Amino acid sequence: MINRYKTKKIFVGNVAIGGDAPISVQSMTYTKTSDIEATIEQIKQLHFAGADIVRVAVPDMEAANALKTIKENTTLPIVADIHFNYKLALKAAEVVDCIRFNPGNISDKNKIKEIIHACKQRNLPVRVGVNCGSLEKQFEDKYGQTPKGMVESALYNIKYLEDLDFTDIKVSLKASDVQRTVEAYRMLRPLNNYPFHLGVTEAGTQFHSTIKSSIALGSLLLDGIGDTMRISMTGELEKEIEVGRAILKDAGIIKEGLNIISCPTCGRIEADLVSAVAEVEKATAHIKTPLNVSVMGCVVNAIGEAKSADVAIAYGKGSGLIIKKGEVIEKLPTEKLLERFLEEVEKEAKLHS
Ligand code: SF4
Repeated sequence: MINRYKTKKIFVGNVAIGGDAPISVQSMTYTKTSDIEATIEQIKQLHFAGADIVRVAVPDMEAANALKTIKENTTLPIVADIHFNYKLALKAAEVVDCIRFNPGNISDKNKIKEIIHACKQRNLPVRVGVNCGSLEKQFEDKYGQTPKGMVESALYNIKYLEDLDFTDIKVSLKASDVQRTVEAYRMLRPLNNYPFHLGVTEAGTQFHSTIKSSIALGSLLLDGIGDTMRISMTGELEKEIEVGRAILKDAGIIKEGLNIISCPTCGRIEADLVSAVAEVEKATAHIKTPLNVSVMGCVVNAIGEAKSADVAIAYGKGSGLIIKKGEVIEKLPTEKLLERFLEEVEKEAKLHS
């Protein structure tokens, strides 16, 4: 049982973050934001993949000016990612749903005041996004690139905002490795109740990012820490969303689609299980109804696993069983099992949708 930390609820557009809101999954486009058409296309891809929120980089005024058209072409909330230049933040605040900037990076307090005033006008939240690789000099000099340095930076930036009577804040504390990331979030969590945006930054290739993010975000989520998340990945854009949702699903936080129980196979295998499971995954990708299914290579553990599955296959020698809720409903030749199994899965999905 996960005891989720009670955080303040804020809104990024129509998506609630924190409090009792579902943990959202977000990503970031990698087009030049000033290339409006390409950016809209990537946002559409992310939307289709299941993103709740999309962030775009705003490095110059051309990008800031593009935000209006981009916003008009999507229903997803847009976060503008801004460093150093307060004018870009002011321009972005006219149209986007959240600003990511660190007040500590803007030296003139009056300029920060202007940004916060603009955010207040439109009820926009701010993400304080601490990155271990770009800590403010005073924190890096004192603490190095450590969790303590990240937490001190976050507290410093949060205080900037609180002193301006601004508390629609979410916070991220990202390092490029699992241990510092987890330690930083755990250290900051008891010190305030702002919602946390989780992520391991620059986590690498699809393979390594999936592993690092699963360990770090999985650990934090099981601790009850985390309100929204982004998987950082050098790879296909949609994979970030797929992995993010899979982490939530496999941590037992959301119930969505099929939970496929399949064995690793061994010398007792009675069918081409690898192909069979791949086919099940592909054929059922559209199903959103939460179902437990089990596809096992022989009867040794199949009957036991089938007891807790909505639909199961137990392969045997030349034939196998279709099992529903622990009851054998049919024995069929091996080549007919998969088709019959998928029929039953569809039926169950409809029944419970
Ligand atoms: S279910 Fe059968 S084939 Fe699969 S790993 Fe277990 S014993 Fe081996």
